[in-house]
Amino acid sequence: MRLAEIDGKALLRRHGLAVPRGALVGADPDAPVGARDWPGYVLKAQVLEGGRGKRGLVCRLAGLAELAPARARIAAALGDPQAPLLLEEAVAIVREIYIALRIDGTRQGLEVLVAAEGGEDVETTTSLLRIPIAAAAMVTADALYPDLARLFARDLAARLARYAARLPEIARAEDLELLEINPLALTADGRLIACDAKIVRDDSAAFRHDPEEFPLSRALAERALTPLERTARELGFHLVEIDGDVALVTSGAGLGMMMMDLLADHGLAAACFMDNLRGAPDETMAERLRIARAIAQRPKVRAIVFQTVLASRSLADRIEALLAWVKAEPLPKPLFVGIAAGHAATRTMSAEAAVERLAAAGIAAFTDPIALVRAVAEAVGAKAG
Ligand code: GDP
Ligand code: MN
Repeated sequence: MRLAEIDGKALLRRHGLAVPRGALVGADPDAPVGARDWPGYVLKAQVLEGGRGKRGLVCRLAGLAELAPARARIAAALGDPQAPLLLEEAVAIVREIYIALRIDGTRQGLEVLVAAEGGEDVETTTSLLRIPIAAAAMVTADALYPDLARLFARDLAARLARYAARLPEIARAEDLELLEINPLALTADGRLIACDAKIVRDDSAAFRHDPEEFPLSRALAERALTPLERTARELGFHLVEIDGDVALVTSGAGLGMMMMDLLADHGLAAACFMDNLRGAPDETMAERLRIARAIAQRPKVRAIVFQTVLASRSLADRIEALLAWVKAEPLPKPLFVGIAAGHAATRTMSAEAAVERLAAAGIAAFTDPIALVRAVAEAVGAKAG
């Protein structure tokens, strides 16, 4: 779950990190109580995508008289006159720093990322310093200092080391996949203030947290779902629609990723990604196929790929169910089936027999996923990338 900036900052504040004073302003732009005393103002759209500064969704205001027109401008750019915006005190920034904590997927551990110059172009202009965090040990400022001292003067490096050392415990307590502060503002009096926050919580840990928490972030995520993605969730699995040319039916993130990579290797792009909502794959094959049929209606989609992996469930049953589905209604695009079945699944039908059974019904089927993807590429005339 990605948190809107205001929710991310609330999370940082409750762990004792400094953030600018601020409040949401609605369609009736009354300045929040106390705002008259702030030294200056920044008005910011609350959307889940980054890069707002470059899209005109962050406005500096000289005074509160500019609030109403600036609000109208941002709301128009968002196409939503009701959009709640964050009004903050402007921080007098002496230096913008980039700091983040994320999971290093390769090492399966946390790492701190730092750049000496934060701001809007950090991804393209600066090289990030990566500091791995040991899994078991308490992270201390002393351990982080030597790396930071390569980028910053001693005093600032020490301050940043203390700041960075607090991030892993916050990430662990809050089950975060990403905690990114850009810019982390250094002020003239030496304070570090998080002027922006991009925070992503691991959805698998949602049960450990208050389901009512962060309603704005929830509403924004809800609005970003396509109708099919919403339907899929109601049917019990997770769907991401993509602008691709193959309606891909899989279960489990690993299998989905592997098939997407194989398709990409052969010049094809998946039109969707499917994952299980709960830990174990639910029996949602019928629902996944129903969604794939809908996605395959798109003119751009050229093929449907159904890759199934069975450990103990009966392959024979699955093939019969698949054939019944195909017969029920003409398919909008040609179907390619991949079969991987373990010993227990093949008691009454081997994978080879399943391929033959499908072939007899005019459906291309494969036991090797690479052969499957190759056949799809050939059929639709894709060029390997
Ligand atoms: P993003 O573009 O979506 O990452 O939005 P940010 O919240 O990072 O804002 C974009 C830029 O506006 C930042 O990189 C800062 O340069 C600037 N900015 C944001 N808040 C403040 C502030 O309080 N004071 C000053 N001086 N600049 C700010
Ligand atoms: Mn930012």
